[in-house]
Amino acid sequence: MFSATILTLYPEMFPGPLGISLSGDALARGLWSLETENIRDHGIGRHKNVDDTPAGGGVGMVLRCDVLAAALDAAVPADDPRPKLLMTPRGKPLTQGRVRELAAGPGVVIVCGRFEGVDERVIEGRGLEEISIGDYVLSGGEMAAMVVLDACVRIIPGVMGKEASGHDESFETNLLEYPQYTRPREWEGRGLPDVLLSGNHALIEKWRREEAERITRERRPDLLIR
Ligand code: SAH
Repeated sequence: MFSATILTLYPEMFPGPLGISLSGDALARGLWSLETENIRDHGIGRHKNVDDTPAGGGVGMVLRCDVLAAALDAAVPADDPRPKLLMTPRGKPLTQGRVRELAAGPGVVIVCGRFEGVDERVIEGRGLEEISIGDYVLSGGEMAAMVVLDACVRIIPGVMGKEASGHDESFETNLLEYPQYTRPREWEGRGLPDVLLSGNHALIEKWRREEAERITRERRPDLLIR
C-alpha cells in the first residue's frame, strides 16, 4: 500500500483537502495511508525551538538541521525504502513522469519547509530529494506536499474508476488534452463540433488528436520538443 509520512509544523493541516472526494474515499477504503510527524515535538529546550537565524546574517529564520533530522529519524526507520522529498522552490520541477514513479512505489516521506527554508546540511545528511511544484513561492511546504500526494493518489490502482483511467490526459502523452463537451447539445447559441455527433469513432479519435496537438502547439510548444 502507498503510505505517506509528512513532517510538518502544522499537522492539523492534514488530511485537509486530501480527506475529501477521490483521495478521501481512497483513504477511507485503505488504498493509501497518511501519517504526520510534528517537527515541533523535536524542538530544542522548554520552548521547543525549531528554527534560528541564518548563519552569516540576513533576514528570516531557518529550520534547524538537528531538529529536522531528529523528526525524520523518529518517523522513518533507517531501512525505509520510501523516497524522502523536501518541498522547496529550488527543487526539480514536479512532472507527471515523477508522479507516476512515486505512485508505483511504496509511498513517500515529505518534509514541509517553513520560514526561509531548511539548513542545507540535513538535505545532504538525510539524502532529501528537493522537489518544486512550480516557479512561485508559497509560505510553507504543506500545500505543495498535498499537491504531490493528490497527483500520486489519483493514479494508485483502484482509486479511479475504469472510465477515468487517465491515460488520455494532459501530459500522459506529452500533449495537453483535447476540448471536452457534454450536454446540453446547444448552449447560449453554441453547438457541439459536428464530428462528435457523427458516431464515427475513428474520425473522433483523429479530431481529438489534432485538437490536442493544436492546443499543445499554441500553449506549450516546449512539450512537443521534449
Ligand atoms: N527562501 C526560500 C523560500 C521559502 S518559502 C527560497 O527563496 O527558496 C517557505 C517554504 O515553503 C519552503 O521551505 C518550501 O517548503 C515551501 N515552498 C515554497 N514555495 C514552494 C514551491 N514552489 N514548491 C515547493 N515548496 C515550496
